[in-house]
Parts: sequence; C-alpha cells; structure tokens
Amino acid sequence: MNKRKPTGFVAACQCSRVVGALDLAKTERTDAGKMLSRWLSDGCTVEPRFDGSWSVVVTPCACELTEQEF
Ligand SMILES: [Zn+2]
Repeated sequence: MNKRKPTGFVAACQCSRVVGALDLAKTERTDAGKMLSRWLSDGCTVEPRFDGSWSVVVTPCACELTEQEF
C-alpha cells in the first residue's frame, strides 16, 4: 500500500471548532509550513485530508469569546 500524500489540512481548535483549512494545491509550500506551525503552536489539532476535493466550514474560534488575560 502506498502512503498517501495529503491534499490539505484542517485545523481544529481546542474548542473543537474548525478554525482553519489549508489546500495544498493552492498554497505555497513555505506558506503551508507557516500555517501548520502556527496552528500547532496555538494548540490546534491538525488533521490531514486525502481526498481530491474536500471542504470544511471554518468558524471563528470560540476560545476568544472567553479569552482570559495572560
Ligand atoms: Zn478555540
């Protein structure tokens, strides 16, 4: 079985909302790397997508509604 290459990534926040989507076909590899590292440093869960076409509904993060001061 060949290892599949992802066609994109979806980022789910700690509030379980989908806060970002990354289509590798439309995104420069360096930009994609930046987005992925930003999501990960934000504590998001990044899931790969393997289908040729996929879509997600990106919603505003709910954590920010109850943002606490650091
Ligand atoms: Zn959130």
